[in-house]
Amino acid sequence: MAVVGVITETAPRERRVALDPDGVTRLTHAGCQVLVEPGAGAQAWFPDDAYVTAGAALADRADVLARADVVLAVRAPSDELEKALRPGQHIVGMLSLLSNPHQAERLAAAGVNAISLDGLPRLLSRAQGMDALTSQANVAGYRSVLVAAEAFGRYLPMMVTAAGTARPAEVLILGAGVAGLQAIGTARRLGAQVRAYDVRPDSGTEVASLGAQFLSIEAVKDAAGEGGYARPLTDTEQKALAEELATHVVKHDIVIATAQVPGRRPPLLVTADAVAGMRPGSVVVDLAASPLGGNVAGSTAGERTLTPGGVMVIGADDLPSTMPTGASAAFSRNVSALLLHLLQDGQLVIDTDDEIQKGVVITHAGEVVHPVVHMALNARDSGEV
Ligand code: NAD
Repeated sequence: MAVVGVITETAPRERRVALDPDGVTRLTHAGCQVLVEPGAGAQAWFPDDAYVTAGAALADRADVLARADVVLAVRAPSDELEKALRPGQHIVGMLSLLSNPHQAERLAAAGVNAISLDGLPRLLSRAQGMDALTSQANVAGYRSVLVAAEAFGRYLPMMVTAAGTARPAEVLILGAGVAGLQAIGTARRLGAQVRAYDVRPDSGTEVASLGAQFLSIEAVKDAAGEGGYARPLTDTEQKALAEELATHVVKHDIVIATAQVPGRRPPLLVTADAVAGMRPGSVVVDLAASPLGGNVAGSTAGERTLTPGGVMVIGADDLPSTMPTGASAAFSRNVSALLLHLLQDGQLVIDTDDEIQKGVVITHAGEVVHPVVHMALNARDSGEV
């Protein structure tokens, strides 16, 4: 019987937990024993007794880490957690190892089997219940509009009152993937007038079906890449796009930027000049904000910056953890669906010939087995990076 451990996330501002009490029920029914660190779900409003009622046992962190065959985590392991993991143990979560091959290498050297949801083959229909990238992007997109609305000094809907008529807010969404579409839907539900742009022209029909207008941009008509993602732009395309977008950005009250290109720095879409051209009181939310840079010039991950021109720039890299109960419940369903897929007779069985496992298993039996991570490490060793 596999012992599954649930521990408290320790990253700053992280309030999610990898498994909720419903997830405990699902895993115990499948023959697992679940150990939970006291307080692991507290920040997401899942009390310890709810875990116990669902069939888990409480154990202190050291005990969970010593006894668990599988440790569940929302994020990449901290140094403390990495050191505490032991050979033969599995760690499963959104570990971001595809973008951090060095940590994958260390985990392999320590004999830890790392299984990372960010490698999931998302287009495979039987993997969709495990798609934590999508579930968390949905939360981020929804939440981005609420954050913007809260920072915005006027109504989002048109409002006809005895005190006068307020015009609806004009909202621009950049990037119409999972988060962008969810942001469009949410802003429309709040009554805003919404426009959106994506370098994948196919997204135009989805944008229109949500009641938003798809912006036609001359600079980049089509930059669709592999598997539904965008391809990276050339420097010339990138510059022309940002310049043309600036003419639209300045006309909007709220801009929400969600654009990503897998394995690359996020594209810069909203320049400092564009932000400077916006009206005082405008709000820009950058979901791509990261230490590597984001979609918006001057955004800082986790911070709100008020420009001299009165524009609030919000570096919103942690939106799923600001809605911890819903985000954790969705994550828990994703991670438990993956575990159920890996379990055979109550034990985790690694089989990298399986299409789902090929994507998510990063290290196994002391080796880095994921081809993308492997390639990144080989490129480093041969001096290419
Ligand atoms: P993502 O997070 O990689 O990027 C977000 C969006 O930014 C994408 O739509 C991308 O085209 C856009 N983008 C990139 N560069 C841009 C630029 N310079 N300017 C404007 N927009 C830019 O993408 P995602 O949200 O993870 O979704 C990627 C694709 O996968 C989408 O086509 C989505 O519909 C698809 N998807 C399918 C499934 C499924 O079939 N189950 C699940 C999830 C996602």
